[in-house]
Amino acid sequence: MGHREVELLAIGAGPANLALAIALEELAPELARNALLIEREQDIVWQRGMLLPDALSQVSFIKDLVTMRNPQSRFSFINFLHSQDRLDAFVNLGSFVPYRSEISEYLQWVADSLAMVRVEYSRECATVEEVAGPSGEVTGWVVRLANGDTIGCRYLVIGAGRDAYVPEVFASLPAERVIHSTEYMQRIGEVQSDLPHRVAVIGGAQSAAELFGAALRDLPECKPTMIMRSIGLNGYESSKFTNELFYNSFVDEFYGAGRDARRQLLGEMHRANYGGLAPATLDSLYRQFYQDRRSGRGRLSMHTMTDITAARMDGEEIVLTLTDRKTGGGQDLRTDLVLLGTGFVRDMPRMVTSLTDSLGLDQAEVTRNYRLKLGRASSGACYLQGVNEATHGISDSLLSVLAARSGEITREILAHRTRHEHTSDQRRELSTADAA
Ligand SMILES: Cc1cc2nc3c(=O)[nH]c(=O)nc-3n(C[C@H](O)[C@H](O)[C@H](O)COP(=O)(O)OP(=O)(O)OC[C@H]3O[C@@H](n4cnc5c(N)ncnc54)[C@H](O)[C@@H]3O)c2cc1C
Repeated sequence: MGHREVELLAIGAGPANLALAIALEELAPELARNALLIEREQDIVWQRGMLLPDALSQVSFIKDLVTMRNPQSRFSFINFLHSQDRLDAFVNLGSFVPYRSEISEYLQWVADSLAMVRVEYSRECATVEEVAGPSGEVTGWVVRLANGDTIGCRYLVIGAGRDAYVPEVFASLPAERVIHSTEYMQRIGEVQSDLPHRVAVIGGAQSAAELFGAALRDLPECKPTMIMRSIGLNGYESSKFTNELFYNSFVDEFYGAGRDARRQLLGEMHRANYGGLAPATLDSLYRQFYQDRRSGRGRLSMHTMTDITAARMDGEEIVLTLTDRKTGGGQDLRTDLVLLGTGFVRDMPRMVTSLTDSLGLDQAEVTRNYRLKLGRASSGACYLQGVNEATHGISDSLLSVLAARSGEITREILAHRTRHEHTSDQRRELSTADAA
């Protein structure tokens, strides 16, 4: 088991930390040369579980990892297309939204094109702990990897995404019968595709709708049933006025807003991101239901305003108890497989909460520039990416703000270093300036 030290360690090579790597190379080359990005997988794949063949990104390609901060960057999506000899063809598509798989290829291309920041694969962070100086001040961090190796750093950036949300009611079912959307592509091959499986798809938004369509494609004989709490499937709220709330410039307004205003903003914007479907998905799904009814096959079904109040095994069958939210009446649904389009846990991911527990903090809260508030003196710092929706607004987990945010974090780290003029070998002199 080995130990090494870097000045900056970023956990997770998703879009957020790749955008940071670009910002480091462009704005802070000296820091970039002593920065390491670790990724638990063997390569970079965007939304690995839902990398469905024809799925489209929902954000303009101009909101790539860098263009909104530095339109002249060599790391732009346009330069990626050019490097693949596909610029003409993409322009000719006449679309602002690339395929999801194309964004995924772009991310790997960015990682491969970095000149200073190192990216290491198959490095899974298992735990993070602070390093404390003689008076309890935080001087840095130690990350323990799944293989037992450790990496020490002064600056830590956690960009490892969010935890999948698996409702408690499904906890007692055998793991091989339940597939969350984050694991769909990795695991659907385990299911024998030529059997007439009954498939329950849980959820009423984009992921559930995509799972439903994917099941029809991957299990051609299956009988899928969609179950949701809402009154039915809805389109995304796509007003150009509310879309302005995804601008990076809106982060300041959201951060400065009071608690009630933040709640209203998140509530009203829910359908702009989580609660709705892309128009093309909605239309295609409705047509599939229409054709199914027309044919008299009755293969597809949907339960709206329905809670799943219990789940158990009866021999080889899964039995879901469905409770009608209108009448309170219950019925059993027997099925073979459960697909969960239930999204992500809203609270901080486990990696962050176990760190805040070890720091003795009640909660994980960041400053406007994403630095974890430690409540004590520190010459090291930790930044959180993609998990600050409650304080920074609904765009926090999206691509929209990554280019600008990575610049903000880089400048924040540079300013922090200037305030604490010492290297990772000299972390003794501390100030209380960052205790807040
Ligand atoms: C199906 C789907 C489609 C989406 N489509 C869009 C879209 O079109 N537009 C948009 O703006 N947003 C979209 N999003 C939102 C999405 O969250 C962001 O686009 C983006 O992926 C967030 O980037 P991230 O780097 O914060 O997290 P992630 O993309 O989740 O990346 C986190 C990375 O960290 C790695 N990691 C996790 N744990 C560890 C560990 N312990 N050790 C080491 N590495 C680890 C993961 O393997 C992963 O590579 C979509 C989300 C989903 C689920």
